Amino acid sequence: MKGQYAVIGLGRFGSSLATTLHQAGNEVLAIDRNEERIEEYKDHVTYAVVADSTDEEALKSVGIRNFDAVIVAIGDDIQASILTVLILKELEVKKVVAKAINKRHGQVLYKVGADWVVFPERDMGERVATQLMSPNVLDYIELAKDYSIKEVKVPPSMIEKNLRELNLRARFNITVIAIISDGKVSISPSPDRIIKEGDILVVIGENKDLDRFEKFD
Ligand code: ADP
Repeated sequence: MKGQYAVIGLGRFGSSLATTLHQAGNEVLAIDRNEERIEEYKDHVTYAVVADSTDEEALKSVGIRNFDAVIVAIGDDIQASILTVLILKELEVKKVVAKAINKRHGQVLYKVGADWVVFPERDMGERVATQLMSPNVLDYIELAKDYSIKEVKVPPSMIEKNLRELNLRARFNITVIAIISDGKVSISPSPDRIIKEGDILVVIGENKDLDRFEKFD
């Protein structure tokens, strides 16, 4: 089922978020106090409204409470960002996601009730650094401090072997939870599954074990 999202602030982060959600088939309301921004993006979202999000009545009048999540993508105007989150929580919005430009800003956003604070520059910096160091890792999710799920390109030496022969659990202490082959995902692949060139393994494990596997070739 598709979702209903409201994105407040159409800067670089907010506009990318809003158009991505819309392209994926979700209903997206975009709000910005700058009319030019609204003009620019109105054809790339479902509804686009010129409004100041620090105006509680304006938020009420667009039915902001009914959205699955509201994303506050205001960056530089820290005061407006904090005030907006506060109002959204007071209006009992189910999920408020907010962008922070630094650590202090993030702490305040959590204090006023944001459910999830994102730090786009910091997070992207971490991601780019990780990918530079491990070019075989296409994507990853950190599960806890020491555990992750990673999408890893198969090393050449593993091609044309099946999972039983590869024995990754014994050799690396990691588990293959899925294989992506030509864009198709097979969850929980059978031990007889033969690894093909270009396959991507989705593996779960402790970071130190995953690191060893990524560097193997
Ligand atoms: P980025 O760093 O992602 O480019 P910006 O801080 O440059 O983000 O852009 C934030 C956007 O949020 C701008 O388009 C601005 O007009 C909008 N904005 C800022 N304050 C408010 C507000 N109170 N209500 C609605 N939109 C706002």
